[in-house]
Amino acid sequence: KTVCVTGASGYIASWLVKFLLHRGYTVKASVRDTNDPKKTQHLLELDGANERLHLIKADLLEEGSFDAVVDGCDGVFHTASPFFLETTDPQADLIDPALKGTLNVLQSCAKTPSVKRVVLTSSMVAVFANGKPQTPQVVVDETWWSHPEFCTQTQQWYFLSKTLAEDAAWKFVREKCIDLVVINPGLVIGPLLQPTLNTSSAILLTLLNETYPNATFGWVNVKDVANAHILAFENPSANGRYCLVESVAHNSETVKILRQLYPALQLPEKFIHGMTGGRPVRGPIIAIGSTGRITG
Ligand code: NDP
Repeated sequence: KTVCVTGASGYIASWLVKFLLHRGYTVKASVRDTNDPKKTQHLLELDGANERLHLIKADLLEEGSFDAVVDGCDGVFHTASPFFLETTDPQADLIDPALKGTLNVLQSCAKTPSVKRVVLTSSMVAVFANGKPQTPQVVVDETWWSHPEFCTQTQQWYFLSKTLAEDAAWKFVREKCIDLVVINPGLVIGPLLQPTLNTSSAILLTLLNETYPNATFGWVNVKDVANAHILAFENPSANGRYCLVESVAHNSETVKILRQLYPALQLPEKFIHGMTGGRPVRGPIIAIGSTGRITG
């Protein structure tokens, strides 16, 4: 079977490509720059890549850019979306690529009859950011939606970009009768395949700052996230949204674990001011809803 992965050079997508190749799929992988070894070398070195990995250049903001990527695919994994927290132009940097990019990819899917299912990487930030109380007794599950007004008021632009993109995806697929399954991971950590640090791994490092946010985050392992995407594609009964949070920890607990595991770990100089620019990252208490599980 042939599938495509958008944003293949990214942190989660690289693991997804690795596991898909391992399972025997032919993978059409979109990258923004096919000539940048930092974005492609680790993919080209994966087992099976020589025979079954095809890198294709595509940009979220270019209409029709994904037609060639999606062409001939049974499944589409749309993971590409900008993920960073600091921006002076949220519309151009985050919202347009997330929202227009998702619709661009779905337009290509709508034109391609071979596509049986689309799996979209959304986020828990499209689930919990709505201002509702989130005490330990509250279960946050896939029935929750973040509120765009709340994200705007609190200037959580990345949260807004993911919420608008997922919402638009559901509206689009209902109209065009496309089979969509959405994965909503919490903060993703675990080994990196690519040579550069992604935002969630960097957030983990910022907790080693002397002043970390007084907040609770939900964490999940990158390999589980990649496998959940594959389960969502392969299981006909998978449907709707799947919240992926393996454990919920107050930042003080996470720091304690980090210090126990890596006593010599120092915060690199460039992180002293933090990826979040001093703005506290809002951390909800997240539990997994009773229906938000995929079984193999
Ligand atoms: P990365 O930053 O590692 O990957 C993001 C990918 O999106 C990169 O391949 C990037 O390409 C691509 N991309 C960004 N802008 C564009 C554009 N304009 N055109 C084409 N491609 C673009 O992030 P992650 O792997 O962490 O995130 C992957 C997905 O998972 C995203 O949708 C993110 O929102 C979601 N997610 C991530 C979580 C986490 O904790 N990591 C948690 C929940 C959801 P390039 O390499 O060229 O920049």
